[in-house]
Amino acid sequence: MSTIFLATWDQPGGIAIREAYRQHQAGLDILTCIERGLAVAELDPDLIAIGLGSVPNSDGDIELDAAMMDGKTLDAGAVCAVRGICPVISVARKVMEDSPCVMIAGEQARRFAIEKGFLPIVTHTADSIQRHQEWADSKEKVTNYVHVTSDPSGQLHGDTITMLALQDGHLVAASSTSGMPFKVPGRVGDSPIVGAGIYADNEAGAAGATGYGEELWKAAASSKTVEAMRHGASAQDACNQTIDFMIRRQPKATDIPCVVFAISPTGDFGAASTKEDFPLWSCVDGVFKLHHYSFRRA
Ligand code: ASP
Repeated sequence: MSTIFLATWDQPGGIAIREAYRQHQAGLDILTCIERGLAVAELDPDLIAIGLGSVPNSDGDIELDAAMMDGKTLDAGAVCAVRGICPVISVARKVMEDSPCVMIAGEQARRFAIEKGFLPIVTHTADSIQRHQEWADSKEKVTNYVHVTSDPSGQLHGDTITMLALQDGHLVAASSTSGMPFKVPGRVGDSPIVGAGIYADNEAGAAGATGYGEELWKAAASSKTVEAMRHGASAQDACNQTIDFMIRRQPKATDIPCVVFAISPTGDFGAASTKEDFPLWSCVDGVFKLHHYSFRRA
């Protein structure tokens, strides 16, 4: 049976999925493949929505979120609002495998990471400091996501990497993000929340989300999508159902793109968005493809 990896967004996803496949070729299990794919992206200072050098919160601090779920056991681990540690996806995996918890937050997540052997590091770069300075100096400074993410350069658009993987009926989901640009300090979005940003169950499917975290969380978007597959929907139909529900029930779901994508235990996959077309990488047995999913119209 095929081994399939999926990753969100063109540039950051492309880097993560190539690394995941490289690890797969080296014979590693799919949990480790997507952990390492996300870790490489986190450590790349040019990717501004994940890990080192990412867009800070409104105080100028970088606070990172990550999560991982194993569809075989429903085991999950997550960290949120972590400062000064990278890659946080590896800390999330430690929470899953080496703690009794599902999520550890903030300063205590950093303490947990250090106890497990991670080294504290400076996650800022000259660019991330400058980006915050420019935002703080701008006349239009607001912490309103709609405004910030509508930046005409498109540069500050959420570029969270969420990944799904399937091998021989085994499903895994994971995500890593710095959250919304210039977010309220301490704010946590959907990405590290099991059921919102990721979900995986070998019996039903796996799903992930990216975009407007508050709205995706309110919809329990990943869990909802997996449950639709459990009730017989294809991955694409399940994504359409979740996004149509959000458009119908959540007035703010079309202010900023909300995206879900999914894969079934037999390998069909799909994606849907509330606004703007969405690029998704797939790697099916080493064949890479960037798909473009049109957004669903209200
Ligand atoms: N979902 C992320 C968050 O709300 C942002 C993103 O996907 O770009 O934190």
